[in-house]
Amino acid sequence: MKRTDFLIVGGSAAGTTAAEVIRGLTPNSSITIITDEPHEEYSRVLLPQYITHKVTRETLFLKKTLWYEENKIELVKGARVVSLDSKTHRLKNERGEEYQFGKLLIAVGGYPLKLSVPGDDLENIHYLRTLEDADRFIETCKSGPSRLRVHPEGSPRGASKKGVIVGGGLVSLDFAEGMKANGIGEVTILVREPYYWAGKLDFDSSRIIKSELEKNGVRVVAGEEVEKFEPIAGLHPVRVVGVVKTKSGKTFGCDVVGVGIGIKSDFSWLEGSGIKIDKAIVTNEYLETSLPDIYAAGDCAQFHDVIFEREHIMGNWANATSQGAAVARTMSGVKTLFESASSYSDTFFEGKYSFLGVTDEKFADEVVERGTFEAGKKTRIFIKTIGGLMRIVGATIINDPAEVSPLTSAVKKKIDISAHYKKLGEPEFNMKDLIA
Ligand SMILES: Cc1cc2nc3c(=O)[nH]c(=O)nc-3n(C[C@H](O)[C@H](O)[C@H](O)COP(=O)(O)OP(=O)(O)OC[C@H]3O[C@@H](n4cnc5c(N)ncnc54)[C@H](O)[C@@H]3O)c2cc1C
Repeated sequence: MKRTDFLIVGGSAAGTTAAEVIRGLTPNSSITIITDEPHEEYSRVLLPQYITHKVTRETLFLKKTLWYEENKIELVKGARVVSLDSKTHRLKNERGEEYQFGKLLIAVGGYPLKLSVPGDDLENIHYLRTLEDADRFIETCKSGPSRLRVHPEGSPRGASKKGVIVGGGLVSLDFAEGMKANGIGEVTILVREPYYWAGKLDFDSSRIIKSELEKNGVRVVAGEEVEKFEPIAGLHPVRVVGVVKTKSGKTFGCDVVGVGIGIKSDFSWLEGSGIKIDKAIVTNEYLETSLPDIYAAGDCAQFHDVIFEREHIMGNWANATSQGAAVARTMSGVKTLFESASSYSDTFFEGKYSFLGVTDEKFADEVVERGTFEAGKKTRIFIKTIGGLMRIVGATIINDPAEVSPLTSAVKKKIDISAHYKKLGEPEFNMKDLIA
């Protein structure tokens, strides 16, 4: 059995940042990271740019082998952790290797939710979370089945290839751009909700995104839920989807399928450990779990959010690194409160979107709107009075990047906006006045 002072499960944003900070604070400690991926740390955030060929595979890697050696951090790759004995501070990986730890950080992120319908095991169905997912997606687009062909509704030989994307969230935007960049001529996104990204966006914001997609040759079909994937009949060497059928009876021919319907963490290895799990691993504001010497950070942590006084899970890279850094300090003996408001921005084709803080209508007292579909930009500002202060608790911003920075500051600095409140919805109001 190996013994290590600090054991970290998961070697991505939260896990690797934590290792780096722990090394800085405790130069003589032993640190081990175990990951089930076969790689040093790489950027998941850059995967969409990798599948559109804007960055090379090499660029994705954030840490080289030498970095782990120089920092005396042992990286155990390709070894899924399968069990935890919290009482004896022991953990085992799938190779049967056992580790005894002083302190344990769980930073296991999440995996894409699988669409469970008949035909879901066919080869050309893709998810996007790992580098291997990205490689496989590019490969399918390049050598899609239409070359060989085919199903009556798929692409006949020589015709433009077809892609179908299931789900209306951010990964679907990445898939849409990825398909276009890899020569898929006709791309259709199927969403079961009444409009794209319903639940996160209002109808007008969604329409702006839809219109940007359409400008780039991507069709959005709302209110359609997949019933099954039908394989191509005939002589194709591998079993691949040729048609997506929806519950309403519509059919969509395809050569490649992308699915983006959410993520979920796998906590099966924590069964019997006694750790408290709700929607994710429950922690306090110091990212300490319900068990002594065991901590959680990043996408897999449901932490007590002191900014908004609630339990919360964040799913973005900046949060994962901030939590990794904060928990590393606490694990090293410098107890550190985690305090940060979520902020997530991305682009798709020529469009830009940002989500800041809490964008939940049920949580806010009021939502102020700026911009319109016709103007091609829309911002929604979520306002709530907390502790006597009228605060901006969150915002969704579509195609208006100048508003991101002042609104982020207003959320993070808990600014009282009551003096500006009445003008917030006016197009002439300069957001920078909020923080002047
Ligand atoms: C395609 C895509 C695009 C994204 N774009 C953005 C963006 O633009 N901006 C942004 O802020 N965020 C973005 N995100 C989200 C961001 O990547 C995540 O929030 C971030 O990676 C979370 O970091 P983490 O360390 O918590 O977990 P993860 O990055 O998920 O890493 C967890 C690691 O733990 C490993 N692991 C899990 N279980 C075990 C086990 N039992 N044993 C060993 N290892 C295990 C996993 O394989 C993984 O390597 C994107 C994500 C994806 C997939």
